[in-house]
Amino acid sequence: MESFDYIVIGSGSSGSVVASRLSEDGRNQVLLLEAGGHADRFWVHAPAGMGRLFLEKAINWAYFTEPGAEINGRSIYWPRGKTEGGTGAVNGMVYMRGHPLDFDRWAALGAEGWGWDEVLPYFIKSESNSRGASAFHGGDGPLRVSDPRQKHPTIEDYLRAAENAGVPRVGDLNAPPYEGADFHQHTIRDGRRETSYTAFVKPVLHRRNLTVMRKTRVLRILVERGEATGVEILQGDRRHVIRARREIVVSAGSLNSPHLLMLSGIGEGRMLAAQGIAVVRDLPGVGRNLQDHWFGPMIWEVTRGSSYNDALRGLGKYVEGVKYLLARRGLLAMSVSASAVFARSSDDLPQPDLQMVLRPVSYTFHPKGAVMVDGFPGVSAGVVLLNPGSRGHVSLRSPDPLAAPAFQPNYLSDPDDGRRTVLGLRRMREIMSRDPVAARVVAERLPGPAVQEDEALLEHIRAHGNCGWHQVGTCRMGRDALSVVDPRLRVHGIGRLRVADGSVMPTITSGNTNAPCIMIGEKAADKIRQDALPRRDTS
Ligand SMILES: Cc1cc2nc3c(=O)[nH]c(=O)nc-3n(C[C@H](O)[C@H](O)[C@H](O)COP(=O)(O)OP(=O)(O)OC[C@H]3O[C@@H](n4cnc5c(N)ncnc54)[C@H](O)[C@@H]3O)c2cc1C
Repeated sequence: MESFDYIVIGSGSSGSVVASRLSEDGRNQVLLLEAGGHADRFWVHAPAGMGRLFLEKAINWAYFTEPGAEINGRSIYWPRGKTEGGTGAVNGMVYMRGHPLDFDRWAALGAEGWGWDEVLPYFIKSESNSRGASAFHGGDGPLRVSDPRQKHPTIEDYLRAAENAGVPRVGDLNAPPYEGADFHQHTIRDGRRETSYTAFVKPVLHRRNLTVMRKTRVLRILVERGEATGVEILQGDRRHVIRARREIVVSAGSLNSPHLLMLSGIGEGRMLAAQGIAVVRDLPGVGRNLQDHWFGPMIWEVTRGSSYNDALRGLGKYVEGVKYLLARRGLLAMSVSASAVFARSSDDLPQPDLQMVLRPVSYTFHPKGAVMVDGFPGVSAGVVLLNPGSRGHVSLRSPDPLAAPAFQPNYLSDPDDGRRTVLGLRRMREIMSRDPVAARVVAERLPGPAVQEDEALLEHIRAHGNCGWHQVGTCRMGRDALSVVDPRLRVHGIGRLRVADGSVMPTITSGNTNAPCIMIGEKAADKIRQDALPRRDTS
């Protein structure tokens, strides 16, 4: 029977790091399993291809949520990467780590060793920032983080307007004071999307002790006498088993990791039994504590030249295509999420709870997932509430491993989430009414000037809001009865099994979640190597 020392499930933002770091030690035989195929595609490499990838089924799990009671019964489309690099291969490439207090809160909630001072070295370790090394950034790690090649004048004006509204320009959103306005940095290398896979795995594929199997879906984890011993996989229509001599690391992401645990008999006993799955370990927290960011969208029609919309439609897009092909420059080399203001909805808060992103393009989300650039020159904003109180869950709908589970994020179920997002919309309006950006504005299109009362703004967020696709927390770290893994990321009560991805976060971070997932991969690999469990006999 085929066996490896470590089996890592999922080549996404966290899993690619885990597999790469474990295989640095030539004595470890490491297997990385990925349900999707290659990510070597033009629209994955070209940063602005994100909109095209949104619905690209070949590399996307393309999930939908259950209808949400507080968002007018809407189901929300959830793209998730199903390819090398995972969701990092379809995301917006914004590099944000979160606020130091986020991680100190994790530690206070039972994730000892995950406070800010303990995670910062891992953020730094992974990073190769185009600005070089500093007290807060890495200069020679595998992951390229860079400034935008082109800075749109409208965004410059937005940042100056924010200053005029009292929000300082900070120069680096990932350094003290972790509050203020600036351009984002992105995981982009020389005009091409950087993922954990391109940064950590691709350059070391020559290692003889690292095996990557694509188009290989793990159906369940085998547990014998309380220890994870192997995985049952599906390749084409062939099912077979691969054994692990040391450990199995589940890095299938916040939606698939809890699903995989459930399919393996690890989860809430009653739910598993109801689906006819033998209960291996009754862990009621599996799939609970689902958290995500929700944003209130805004769109302004602006003067000609103040938006990229024209360049993205008609002949303009071919010109951009040529620019990119010739020199990896132009709009296709950029992430649309250009900039953000981090601010507090109330001065009493200890840290910013709003991220107000302005993009030099505007587009409309259609219910089935399509994203269409608007037919007028527009800019768009997402007012993101960073630390929502709403909690949802992932639950099993069927024992069939190929059937998606049910996702209920319960967006806006905590009334305070809507209240604070409304304050954010007002703050955004205030900034857009300031010079110099105000001179570019022709009209507010969404929600529109008629929408003024709190209740009307809240209704706008319910009817038109969307999510950040930052789902986390479904296998959370801790020591209490509803936690799933301990702070060393070991699944409670099951030997040789860890979870390492966004699902282990106790609470969502105050920013985009890719960088924290990469940090989790780094820290997980370190813990696994420190523990160096003795090999099992798989003969
Ligand atoms: C549209 C969109 C835009 C985003 N924009 C940003 C952004 O700009 N900045 C940012 O920081 N974050 C962004 N995010 C979020 C961020 O990309 C994710 O939080 C992060 O990539 C999650 O990493 P992960 O390792 O937890 O999971 P993933 O990266 O999803 O990795 C999981 C991997 O496991 C594989 N897998 C799952 N199940 C199985 C199985 N049974 N067998 C084998 N393999 C399996 C999957 O195919 C996938 O490759 C965005 C997300 C989306 C969807």
